[in-house]
Amino acid sequence: MAGARGEKVTMQEHMAINVSPGPIRPIRQISDYFPHFYPFAPALLRPRPAPLPALPNEPTPESVLGSPMDEAQTPTTKAGVSQLPQCLEEEQDGDSDETTALGSLEFTLLLDQQNCVLHCTIHRAKGLKPLDSGSIDTFVKANLLPGISKASQLRTRTVRGSRGPHWDETLTYHGFTCQDAGCKTLRLCVCEEARLRRRAEPLGEVRVALKKLVPNLTRSFNICLEKRRLTRRPRSLDTARGMSLYEEEVVEAAGEERGRILLSLCYSSQRGGLLVGVLRCAHLAPMDANGYSDPFVRIFLQPNMGKKSKYKTTVRKKTLNPEFNEEFFYAGQREELAQKTLLVSVWDYDLGTADDFIGGLQLSINSTGEKLRHWSECLARSDWRLELWHRLDGAPPQLGD
Ligand code: CA
Repeated sequence: MAGARGEKVTMQEHMAINVSPGPIRPIRQISDYFPHFYPFAPALLRPRPAPLPALPNEPTPESVLGSPMDEAQTPTTKAGVSQLPQCLEEEQDGDSDETTALGSLEFTLLLDQQNCVLHCTIHRAKGLKPLDSGSIDTFVKANLLPGISKASQLRTRTVRGSRGPHWDETLTYHGFTCQDAGCKTLRLCVCEEARLRRRAEPLGEVRVALKKLVPNLTRSFNICLEKRRLTRRPRSLDTARGMSLYEEEVVEAAGEERGRILLSLCYSSQRGGLLVGVLRCAHLAPMDANGYSDPFVRIFLQPNMGKKSKYKTTVRKKTLNPEFNEEFFYAGQREELAQKTLLVSVWDYDLGTADDFIGGLQLSINSTGEKLRHWSECLARSDWRLELWHRLDGAPPQLGD
């Protein structure tokens, strides 16, 4: 602790010499003169080792406790579910009378770290105000920001004729990691169902910074709805076909926007070859004018050995979060296969025209990071299956026949 404050101590010593020429006593820390009110004071007062850098997969103390004044005092049940409504002050926008006037939304969030899944259970809304007088049919639309909004868009069913609708429906994001939680915000928008002459209209929205979540701990929210906030989409995305038909949907900074894929690899000693599982994709880039894609996955092992080396999955229509669960087989010795490269590419099927490339990746001993780990660990031993999510790159794979 002293080392971290070295500079301050030196400065104080210097001033002390000028004022008093007597013997120099060790200077106490300024906090020693004040009473300690921290709820976790004993831990702070004990000398601590230098703080370790936070591991990416572990919640930092800040994300666990939040600000000590508001969240540390929130009582939790044995299951860890907060009982008090959480109002996210920093997310509030505008006048409070106006925001409470739009109603409120109750929901719970659970980040399942092991399976890379974010569960978002929408319970109910209260005090909704319809746009016209009369009955009101509503649903909730969820998006992860920043990002292409349709890639992460999920919605509940419509509940008819209620200003306090109960949906009690869980929306699930697959391929959602703790790293995503660190940088993504969940937006939940309560919308009034489209009528004859009008499209669905937002009644209000809430936003939750997901870094507040503790992995594997359910957290409940009850938040006042705010007015819908619109954001401009970056020009870089205008290249995708059909983007001009988008509604005002929110698109913010687009860092990684090709999507991601869940693959499994296993060398089967019984069958004498590599099993490649194409399980699902998530948050794929939209390629069609309707804001979706018709995705399928091609895999190719190269250099090929004169045996079957190219495969493709079936096409999943009009979705950005397809589930495939298809498995393909490459015969060969394990050591021989380990020297090869597996090219994986995701495409949007188009009737009558060339398919659009969405994103791809390569797995080989020349890969880096998680891709290298996946390839090398699964080909270093037999009968060991590993599923990992991978990010798709924008560069089309080099198919050398
Ligand atoms: Ca298509």
